[in-house]
Amino acid sequence: TCAALARVSGDELPVPLVQGGTRTYANFDYAASAPALAQVTDRIQRLLPYYASVHRGAGYASRISTECYEAARGSVARFLDAADDQVVVFTRNTTDSLNLLASCVPGDTVVLDIEHHANFLPWTRHGRRVVRAADTVAETIRLLVAELCSKPAALLAVTGASNVTGEVLPLERLADIAHQCGARILVDAAQLAPHRRISLRESGIDYLAFSGHKLYAPFGSGVLVGRRDWLDRAEPYLAGGGAVRAVSTEGAEWAPAPQRHEAGSPNVLGAAAIAAACDALAAIDPDELAAHERLLADRLRDGLCAIPGVETLRIWSDSPDSVGIVAFTVAGFAPGHVAAYLSAEHAIGVRDGRFCAHPLLARLGLDAALRASIGLGTTSADIDRLVDAVATLVHRGPSWNYARTDGLWNP
Ligand code: PMP
Repeated sequence: TCAALARVSGDELPVPLVQGGTRTYANFDYAASAPALAQVTDRIQRLLPYYASVHRGAGYASRISTECYEAARGSVARFLDAADDQVVVFTRNTTDSLNLLASCVPGDTVVLDIEHHANFLPWTRHGRRVVRAADTVAETIRLLVAELCSKPAALLAVTGASNVTGEVLPLERLADIAHQCGARILVDAAQLAPHRRISLRESGIDYLAFSGHKLYAPFGSGVLVGRRDWLDRAEPYLAGGGAVRAVSTEGAEWAPAPQRHEAGSPNVLGAAAIAAACDALAAIDPDELAAHERLLADRLRDGLCAIPGVETLRIWSDSPDSVGIVAFTVAGFAPGHVAAYLSAEHAIGVRDGRFCAHPLLARLGLDAALRASIGLGTTSADIDRLVDAVATLVHRGPSWNYARTDGLWNP
């Protein structure tokens, strides 16, 4: 089934090379944005002729659009095995989802210092509580327990999988700990959801966020799924049409979630795209997916580590699990130059920089690194191509440096 699902857009993309000619693109940047699955493209194409205003019109196209939009919540809820009191709110992306939740949390949030900025700044900008992760998962959990017990907290916000190293924390255990300390747990699943099946019901996760564009659906839509009570009690995230039951010159009677936090005309195509991706991923055997990915990720790690001067990064010495994301450095080469070389000479796309996780990069003692991330379209031939390209560069020596030409540096 993995092979059947590997039909992602961009598979045949020709990329010009500096040495002349073109080569098909080898995408090692799934963690930034994953190309759309064929099932997603199909569903959008079928819906496109019917897009019309949702919840507002009695016309045929409006009814189709409304049905698709509401059915999309069902696909997401089924994909995540959401509990009955958990609602699906459509947002723009994970960042939006986490900012929305931050506006609803009735108390302090505890967060680790290894997070993507999207799961860090929405909490810390309100003066909330940061725990410095230790070198082992076991000790990090002990520090989290100490922080949660020392002073009441409403929420523990953790990443499902690190966007830098791919490492996965034991989420069920963290959910238990948060609950024992009287807090709830949010999981930033931007990187976990594309790689692992998550059951909210079984894991005890209260809130979860992810982005469509990392889950094989295009940009512009994301979800926040979570327990209704906080969402219903909070002020609407945006004020406007669709978020209300009734308005008079005296005030507004706000609608309950999810409509309460979805003011304005919603992104129907974005929601339908996410739903199509969820349905497609739900059809894959999770064990098969994990095994397929582990095989490729191990091949990548082993191949890179065998090259002199290449080091892969990790946060914890005892992390039990990781998804297909490998961050690495090449001694003597600036990460930006390695990324530019891989693109220019080999048509390989990787991410370089600080991965929107500046505190984590600082902990690792780095200004920048490289990140290769794999997904459903990745093959073992792609892995070998990347490993061979890095080995070729190292063999040439550090005098080979490519300047970045995209004007970006170290985001
Ligand atoms: N959390 C994690 C772990 C991520 O990797 C990312 C994207 N790199 C985000 C949050 C933010 O996602 P978005 O930009 O789609 O809001």
